[in-house]
Amino acid sequence: MSASSRKRIVLLGATGSIGENTLRVIATHPDKLELVGIAAHSNHARLAEIARAHPGVRHVAVFDHAAFAAAKSAHAFPADVALHGGLAGLNFLAQLPEADTVLVAVVGTAGLEPALAALAAGKNLALASKEILVLAGKFVMAAARASGAKLLPVDSEHNAVFQCIQGHPSADVSRIVLTASGGAFRDWPVEKLAHVTVADALKHPNWSMGPKITVDSATLANKGLELIEAQCLFGLRADQCHAVLHPQSIVHALVEFTDGAMLAQLCPPSMTFPIQHALLHPARAPGVDAPLDLTKLLSLEFRPVDEARFPMLRLAREVMHAGGSAPAAYNAANEIAVAAFLAGHIPFLAIPQVVDKTLQTLTSFEPADLAAVLAVDAEARRVATSSLPTFRV
Ligand code: NAD
Ligand code: MG
Repeated sequence: MSASSRKRIVLLGATGSIGENTLRVIATHPDKLELVGIAAHSNHARLAEIARAHPGVRHVAVFDHAAFAAAKSAHAFPADVALHGGLAGLNFLAQLPEADTVLVAVVGTAGLEPALAALAAGKNLALASKEILVLAGKFVMAAARASGAKLLPVDSEHNAVFQCIQGHPSADVSRIVLTASGGAFRDWPVEKLAHVTVADALKHPNWSMGPKITVDSATLANKGLELIEAQCLFGLRADQCHAVLHPQSIVHALVEFTDGAMLAQLCPPSMTFPIQHALLHPARAPGVDAPLDLTKLLSLEFRPVDEARFPMLRLAREVMHAGGSAPAAYNAANEIAVAAFLAGHIPFLAIPQVVDKTLQTLTSFEPADLAAVLAVDAEARRVATSSLPTFRV
């Protein structure tokens, strides 16, 4: 591939865990990939380092206004880099004329507008931010269909399903099974969960990730969000989407076909595999990390998830069946509850209670447009926030 046919990448959320892994993938394939734009919430010093390491970067967006002002006065960026601020800055990067693929790895739902902007501009959208599909999946999928833009899942389980399902008519798929490591507390006695600290919840057995998703892995809200994400991405019914505990995180998902055959995708638990797959798609190339070594002892275990231990999974199943606005409320209430837990305001076991209370308070309906979904998001945040004092430590 010549330098001119390199895929040009915009990376939103460049300073996070997915962002850093994406930079490793891009640095491994200088002949195939070129970074042209980067954005983050506020860490402009790190953005400047990235811009210096990747000379193709011409546009940088800093979401936070104070950090944007500080970035401008710091003069740390190469002279040919244009600085952009706020959500408008992210939206501008998402539609850069020279970009081929926009990778959205902004934590939470702040990446929704940029993701829709990228699709509207016909860019390939490599999507890591699962919260976006949970909040507004119907509208994101419609935007992709309308422009014909490719939506490439980066979340490892969905990337795995995407790989296994290729070339198979949807009528032949009977169900999909996402694997869950079980997070930090998989093997803790249930009685001890009442005393979990923030430090305990941030110790993930297999994956190194940002704080919000690490807590979501400990409650299994992450798997709940992923089941909703899968239902939306692959157009499945709620009863076709399943989760199974798989402590090794080697098999990322399985697809079962109507004849009972299953296809699985296997690779070590490193996000460089799905990120590279999404960025190079449909091409393949040697990766950043070594593949599995089958000459070493490798055992794969699967066991059912105990929904009594993980109420966030039961609640996810309920919202998948309810449909409409329920997934948006689940996601918003979870974000509020996780932030309150990380700030030391509520105990670990209160996270599902805040979400349950919010879901019980709000009546589910079919949102007619994006504005209606955003209103549900805001209302669920308000209800969840007002319930926090009931659960204070
Ligand atoms: P992280 O906390 O490590 O990084 C978040 C990134 O988002 C940072 O670069 C931050 O600056 C940026 N950001 C936050 N708010 C922003 C805003 N308003 N505008 C611009 N940038 C903003 O998070 P992460 O672990 O990298 O996860 C990112 C997303 O990817 C999440 O949605 C997560 O669910 C999803 N995901 C992560 C992993 C993983 O292994 N880390 C795996 C699958 C999916
Ligand atoms: Mg995942």
